[in-house]
Amino acid sequence: MDHSSNNILLDQFGRPHDYLRISLTERCNLRCTYCMPEEGIVLRPRAQFMKTDEVIAIAKTFVSLGIKKIRLTGGEPLVRNDAKEVIEQLAKLPIELAISTNGVLVDQFIDTFKKAGIHSINVSLDSLQEGKTAAITRRNNFAATLSNIHLLIKENFHVKLNAVIMKGLNDDEILDFVQFTKENPVHFRFIEFMPFNGNKWDWSKGLSYKEIMDLVNTDYGAKVQKLQDKKNDTAKSYKIEGYKGTFAVISSVTNPFCDSCNRLRLTADGRMKNCLFSQSETDLLTAFRNGEDLRPLIFENVWKKKSTRGGMDTFEEFSDASLNQQNRSMIAIGG
Ligand code: SF4
Repeated sequence: MDHSSNNILLDQFGRPHDYLRISLTERCNLRCTYCMPEEGIVLRPRAQFMKTDEVIAIAKTFVSLGIKKIRLTGGEPLVRNDAKEVIEQLAKLPIELAISTNGVLVDQFIDTFKKAGIHSINVSLDSLQEGKTAAITRRNNFAATLSNIHLLIKENFHVKLNAVIMKGLNDDEILDFVQFTKENPVHFRFIEFMPFNGNKWDWSKGLSYKEIMDLVNTDYGAKVQKLQDKKNDTAKSYKIEGYKGTFAVISSVTNPFCDSCNRLRLTADGRMKNCLFSQSETDLLTAFRNGEDLRPLIFENVWKKKSTRGGMDTFEEFSDASLNQQNRSMIAIGG
């Protein structure tokens, strides 16, 4: 059945989708505990992954169906050998191009980002402490990441910092993160710890939106200003009066924001996911290699999207490992 109307990617709940997150690789130069399973992931033959021209061609099909924004993710997108070429090619499309990175290699891409018109860069920063960062990432790249964050600020990029908040690990730094926005014009986002295959998720390790804001409100009181969130925003944004930067909370666990979701995902091996937590996927890469028309597959995938968290509507369902572990590991989705 043709669900297309005017080439807008609508799901059965009437949500239009115009934002595609493309994972360029499952490889990464870090090993973050909440993303990469302890035992790592099985690295598969390159033939199973999208080649440069396949990324571009499949992206073009999505753009022809109304996608207006593409965010490149990974693993770590910048470790891909052809990352510069992919960015340059995608920049030719009529879209807003953005990227999520762990920041380690960013200094090698400043010119590429500028030429491609990339303004918005998300950098993962789960701690402002070197030792703790090494414990979370299982690598020693804190200095490189921090200096590259300051380089991006100096080069006038719009910098968003992503911290996954975990109890007993970095929840004691929330006020330091907010304080970081005093002199730095960044948007610091605190992400509720989410379940993915192999990340040993358990909500007792997470900190909720309410708990985070209670901490901030207790310390900053009336200086906390609520900012206007945009329609498709995943984050609830705030600012401390007089500070250069802002902060926000992304509350997928305790306060999901699926009603206005406009996001679709394409994994590095060419599978389409209509939700971060969807268990069903559509193999676009094999279809593309067989010369098939991808559009009916894409429309069908979007139409079947569940209302909330891939069908895990309630907190109980979302916390049920027999459900949430059916998904891929975070590194194989790209967040
Ligand atoms: S959980 Fe799924 S439906 Fe909800 S906002 Fe995220 S991607 Fe969209």
